[in-house]
Amino acid sequence: YFSMVYGQKLCYYEPSMEESYRHDALMESHLRRAIEKNELHLHFQPQIDLSTGNVESFEALLRWSNPKFGDVSPVKFIPIAEESGIIVMIGDWVLEEVAKILSEWKKREWLHLRIAVNISPLQFKEENFIEKMKDLIERHSLEPSMLELEITESSMMDVDKTMITLSELKEMNMIISIDDFGTGYSSLSYIKSYPIDIIKIDKSFIQEMDCDQRNQAIAKTIIHLAHSLGLTVIAEGVERLEHVSILKGENCEKAQGFLFSRPVPFEVIENQYLNKLN
Ligand code: C2E
Ligand code: MG
Ligand code: MG
Ligand code: MG
Repeated sequence: YFSMVYGQKLCYYEPSMEESYRHDALMESHLRRAIEKNELHLHFQPQIDLSTGNVESFEALLRWSNPKFGDVSPVKFIPIAEESGIIVMIGDWVLEEVAKILSEWKKREWLHLRIAVNISPLQFKEENFIEKMKDLIERHSLEPSMLELEITESSMMDVDKTMITLSELKEMNMIISIDDFGTGYSSLSYIKSYPIDIIKIDKSFIQEMDCDQRNQAIAKTIIHLAHSLGLTVIAEGVERLEHVSILKGENCEKAQGFLFSRPVPFEVIENQYLNKLN
């Protein structure tokens, strides 16, 4: 242990804390330049329609490869991007990249395809978020229903503001999904009043579903609840065939997980799922 004097206050630090703070600060400064240095790219994970086996939607997931830090998991760098506010700039970049793809798909008249984008609470709460989305759709002349916005329960703390933002997005015809459902703090009551389309069951409930009866009970209850409210369900973290049979038994609409595919580069999506179109 060592100590430092900050003004009048004497603070004790564990070296590991100091080190991890420096590490994060350094990572933040690299992250700040990641876009201009072309270090960010997107991978895409297919979502399988459980009743047909078709794949018509994909989730866009950020990847960061940096010369100093190597391939950094979003689990590590998204929180740093959020704490520093950089996530807004990065999120805008993600939306631009996805918009380019969607506008190409629209030109080919593949209007049934869809890409889901993760929206950080910081983006969602931005003053001009709606303006940005309108501008995006106009500039790329997008079909809004081809774009799905994944928000988390932490975006929905302010009930009135959330209601206004979601209503405007719905009015524009975009698809709204609640990501990591069941892990947040908000009360259940919002899902009956907010204009949302899809609930994504968090992978922590799905992964142990086949060997843990409690997780299975939670997953099934979420599916029933969503269906009785007229919402669609996507299960994430589907890793085993047992998961699929349980989900099919509950009429869960879609599944996403390593059993079907890991998130992959766009070229793989093109070769595997889009070649047969047209
Ligand atoms: P998420 O949005 O819940 O995305 C699903 C995560 O689960 C992805 O992790 C995906 O690779 C992983 N996953 C998918 N199937 C399986 C499976 O069968 N088993 C297991 N163990 N994991 C599976 P990833 O790509 O590491 O992303 C982690 C999180 O980082 C995302 O969770 C999301 O919250 C955030 N994130 C990723 N890209 C973006 C982005 O563009 N913007 C924002 N704001 N957040 C992002
Ligand atoms: Mg997501
Ligand atoms: Mg999730
Ligand atoms: Mg998430």
